[in-house]
Amino acid sequence: MTSDTTTESPILVISNRLPVTVGRSARGLELRRSTGGLVSALEPVLHRRGGTWVGWPGAKLRDGEVLSQPSDPYRIVPVELSDGEVARYYHGFSNATLWPLFHSMPDRARFERSDWDAYERVNERFAAVAAAEDGLAWVHDYQLMRVPHHLRRLRAEARIAFFCHIPFPPYDVFRLLPWDREILRGLVAADLIGFHVRDYAQNFLDCAERLLAARVDREAGLVEVGDRTIAVGEFPIGIDFPLYEQRAMAMQGRDRRREQLVLGVDRLDYTKGIPQRLRAFERLLDLHAEHRGQVVLLQIAVPSRDQVRAYQDLKREIDELVGRINGRFATPGWTPIQYLYRSIPPDDLSALYRDARVALVTPLRDGMNLVAKEFVASQVDDPGVLILSRLAGAAETMREAVLVNPMDLDGTAEAIHRALVMDEAERRSRMVALRRRERRNSVEAWTNGFLRRAASSGERLLPASDTEFDAWIGSMLRKYRLALFLDYDGTLSPIAEHPSLALLSAEVRDALERCAARDDIDIAIVSGRALEDVRKLVGLDEVVYAGNHGLEIQGPGIRFEHDDLAHYADRLDRLADELEQHCIPGAWVEPKGASLTFHYREADETQHERLAANATAMIRAAGFQPRSALAAVEARPPIGWDKGHAVLHVLRARYGPSWSESVRPIYAGDDETDEDAFRVLAGLGRTFRVGSPDRSTAADRQLADVDAVLGLLDYLARR
Ligand code: UDP
Repeated sequence: MTSDTTTESPILVISNRLPVTVGRSARGLELRRSTGGLVSALEPVLHRRGGTWVGWPGAKLRDGEVLSQPSDPYRIVPVELSDGEVARYYHGFSNATLWPLFHSMPDRARFERSDWDAYERVNERFAAVAAAEDGLAWVHDYQLMRVPHHLRRLRAEARIAFFCHIPFPPYDVFRLLPWDREILRGLVAADLIGFHVRDYAQNFLDCAERLLAARVDREAGLVEVGDRTIAVGEFPIGIDFPLYEQRAMAMQGRDRRREQLVLGVDRLDYTKGIPQRLRAFERLLDLHAEHRGQVVLLQIAVPSRDQVRAYQDLKREIDELVGRINGRFATPGWTPIQYLYRSIPPDDLSALYRDARVALVTPLRDGMNLVAKEFVASQVDDPGVLILSRLAGAAETMREAVLVNPMDLDGTAEAIHRALVMDEAERRSRMVALRRRERRNSVEAWTNGFLRRAASSGERLLPASDTEFDAWIGSMLRKYRLALFLDYDGTLSPIAEHPSLALLSAEVRDALERCAARDDIDIAIVSGRALEDVRKLVGLDEVVYAGNHGLEIQGPGIRFEHDDLAHYADRLDRLADELEQHCIPGAWVEPKGASLTFHYREADETQHERLAANATAMIRAAGFQPRSALAAVEARPPIGWDKGHAVLHVLRARYGPSWSESVRPIYAGDDETDEDAFRVLAGLGRTFRVGSPDRSTAADRQLADVDAVLGLLDYLARR
């Protein structure tokens, strides 16, 4: 995969379904082209720029069966799923967990560990297949939210964009998901994350800020996670406006008298609010008897996910409602509700759109809703009226529609009445404005706009400012003494090729000195290095030094060595000798007092894996804990003591057991060993994770790099 900065690089589309459906007959493999909105949106770009579409073909392929010919304008690459994976990844986690939750219907969501596991596994497989392809990766929708993360792992330099076609729920709903952070971390591995409307993008930013401790700029639409900045924006999708317009013009008006037709077109889904709509129509007939015998509601419900219990229940509910309402009002010559449970050929649908006086688009929640837009594009003659739910994404732009709250039956009934009696001047005024916007914001404009933004290279957030530090820690600084804990490598000094090269910059040294000179700040350096090593590097007398991840601590008023250390000293020496015997050129052993590190960075690269495996095995055999670091393996005595214990020890030794009454700790660190301190200090102080974590962090905030830590020190010294 190459990284792409031009708008005309090849495109790598990754979506749950391929643009073809695979079937099998006596003649063998049969491909049917799909006609969905996404296919018509993306195929023109793929034809123009070339590229690949990765997705599930919907059926099993046999060995050697291929879906693409070399002469095709773009490649089609299948990702195969087992029946179990379809059940758990697709019907399970995607449609029974994420779909209801993201539509803010948490009561309908089921949370099953095995569904999540399958989702993760399948997303990983999609990423592995995609990683072998070239182009700007464009990942689609809620079934594949972990793909950016896995793709980034495999291709660090890839350009990755993600688009979410459904709503993104508010923080309060999103955090019900047991895998909330994993989903967010899956997404923020992309360079651009797109949503239909601003509310969804803002919800996402809220969640990233609160659950990932990320920095966000809501105005600019940027989120900073570790040292990466991700653009987040709204890109409302449109339709192929000319196609619907022409189809409507080509269809002769049917003999149905349009003054009387109210039309509903939906997939049969509980998000679409069909029962509420039927009740609102019933309310109309109750409140406005003049429409009885005149108006007809034609409800088309396209079968969907009909294996799933909730969808079967909904179908039964709708059947019964239609029966009851028709039973109440029907006369020999008039049936108020016509109900079709099937899909409609495109030409017939266009004729209905064109002939309807009112389109009733009243979902309880909908990412966008294309039916509303297709209806508008089809108003080529005497215009009808669009009634649109405020809770559909489409309502954010289609302001000239008659907007309703679908939960409000009286309000919706009155809106239908108003639409039925609306005079031509008003109908035309509204429709002209709606049509102008949808014509301009067609699906082609959407694709181009999104890809342009995806190719534009990295906006970055400005470094954290005093205002941000004030918001995060200002209030505690006014009332409490400050105990400042700082990791060394990666926090005060960038990670260097060799440990001896990681020195403090003049600026960091100066800021540290200014903090140390204040009599309301006490500093402790907490490092994995040997105590003497880190003391020499920092060289400030008034500072406490905790070496070996806190096994040894020294400073004003503190001298601590863990009781069990002496017990391991001889064994550690023997381990060092053993490891040294196995060193090849470029590998070396760094004794660190209570621990040691085996380094192999400068050894022949083909030997790295063997050296690491050998060292790990020897460390384990000697009864020490191995931990892999950057081209190195550490050996630590198996003592249940970490940086968290060390921090608490320092606090108690310095200020007594009731330290939390008068002192607030601040801790900044950049790696997994610092997570122990973040967890211990949660709620007791403020913690900062520096750089890009591989996994979730327990810290309160993330800071991009050593420069951002410098900003923090400088702020503390100046305040
Ligand atoms: N549609 C369809 N077959 C039908 C009726 C409608 O394929 O019999 C199409 C309709 O034209 C629209 C889509 O289904 O493009 C529904 O999209 P929408 O955004 O309204 O809802 P979604 O189903 O994506 O939740």
